[in-house]
Amino acid sequence: MTAAKRDYRTALEYLETFEKKDGLSVAELMDSTIRGGLTYNDFLVLPGFVNFPSSEVDLTTKLTKKISLNTPFVSSPMDTVTESEMAIHMALLGGIGIIHHNCTPEAQAAMVKRVKTYENGFINSPVVISPETTVAEVKAMKEQHGFSGFPVTEGGKFPGKLLGLVTSRDVQFLEDDSVKVTEVMTANPITAKHGITLSEGNKILKDTKKGKLLLVDDKNNLVSMISRTDLMKNQNYPLASKSASTKQLLCGASIGTIDADRERLALLVEAGLDVVVLDSSQGNSIFQINMLKWVKQTYPNLEVIAGNVATREQAANLIVNGCDALRIGMGTGSICITQEVMACGRPQATAVYNVCKFAKEFGVPCMADGGIHNIGHITKALALGASTVMMGGLLAGTTESPGEFFFRDGKRLKVYRGMGSVDAMQSTGKKGNASTSRYFSESDKLLVAQGVSGAVVDKGSITKFIPYLYSGLQHSCQDIGVKSITSLREDSAKGEVRFEFRTASAQLEGGVHNLHSYEKRLHN
Ligand code: IMP
Repeated sequence: MTAAKRDYRTALEYLETFEKKDGLSVAELMDSTIRGGLTYNDFLVLPGFVNFPSSEVDLTTKLTKKISLNTPFVSSPMDTVTESEMAIHMALLGGIGIIHHNCTPEAQAAMVKRVKTYENGFINSPVVISPETTVAEVKAMKEQHGFSGFPVTEGGKFPGKLLGLVTSRDVQFLEDDSVKVTEVMTANPITAKHGITLSEGNKILKDTKKGKLLLVDDKNNLVSMISRTDLMKNQNYPLASKSASTKQLLCGASIGTIDADRERLALLVEAGLDVVVLDSSQGNSIFQINMLKWVKQTYPNLEVIAGNVATREQAANLIVNGCDALRIGMGTGSICITQEVMACGRPQATAVYNVCKFAKEFGVPCMADGGIHNIGHITKALALGASTVMMGGLLAGTTESPGEFFFRDGKRLKVYRGMGSVDAMQSTGKKGNASTSRYFSESDKLLVAQGVSGAVVDKGSITKFIPYLYSGLQHSCQDIGVKSITSLREDSAKGEVRFEFRTASAQLEGGVHNLHSYEKRLHN
């Protein structure tokens, strides 16, 4: 054993004698003249000092100049990732969903409207029936929908004048299925005025011991309902992203940069859109600049996220024209072949660092888009200066993503495809809009793919997955010794949060190794 050169009590003083903290500053790490362009896997963040519980880590952040979120999570505008179900749940869980535009403007606006009119616990589009409906039809509807409480309205319209309520008890033991529901329904079901809170509604259900509470307007038109079976399922969503004035969930949507997108945007704004993403794989174009200027002039209150960009030159052109946030990433998505086919793009960590550093000078928040495979990648994107992360593949294959599950090779799967895949471009390509315009291909006879179409394994519901990301990110910040996303970004920029470059063998060491077999369960 070698004799100690110093007294152990002087360790902290000795530390002070070092010129620099251990590891690299973010600027040293990202010096591309030394190491070239880096990806998230190429480096690690060094651990700091922990003197707080992870639950204290504050994950509030900026989506755009004017919109703040309680979490940095954004779902990508892709037709296998974000439609209204995903957008509703992303917003309930503190993030935001950007509804894709690979569909007609009317269909996209209807999806935005569904998010904006969603009220947790209220069934705002109940299945209603007309007085002419027979008991046999009600029984068939029960089979089809899996529930059996159907309000009866004049002409079977919704919203419409409320006439009664049919439940399974009314039809269960009837022998003659041909009778009309008017003969068996409850003609005076319990109602309350639209506008009551969920807890007021729940109390009425408990007090009256009824299964359904029908909410009506002043003219006795049915406008919504609350169901006892949902009572148990109604979760509290303390992080929900809501507009301060209307209390409605926040909703984003993407559009392209061709003329027809101006009409599309008008419908989206009418439906209540909060933020629009100008969706282009290469955002530094005259088309995007013209669209950006027009949107800011026409809808001064609408927040605009421009992109995609990977260099500060691209960013400057969009910042100077008034964008409210930037979307960073070119060729790094999990379904993407842009770098391969176009020879254009940039390793994502380098792109995020350089664009964020530039945009910060102008107070423009940045979103790191694509290539996020795990919580560690999210932490790294934020440490490099991003305010939010956009995810496609990580959220595809969940209960809330569009599409049906199917089985292959014994696995439950859902389709996940790039918007530049031939599949996606052909699905609405003839209309000269949507995903083709993302790649400036709307007038091409021969489509050059920049993405692939594939499948991902069932991940369950995002109501479990997003809280897992949230909690994991809090723990990650705790390890680094920062109490918020803001500190993570600022302390990193100041050189206080330290980094280490990772060699190929270091990357192997950091993954599971030397096991005969194992199961990777990410959360309980
Ligand atoms: P992921 O999270 O790694 O799966 O990447 C999703 C991101 O990839 C999206 O938000 C888009 O920016 C990008 N993207 C979507 N479709 C394509 C494509 O077909 N080619 C290239 N990039 C795409």
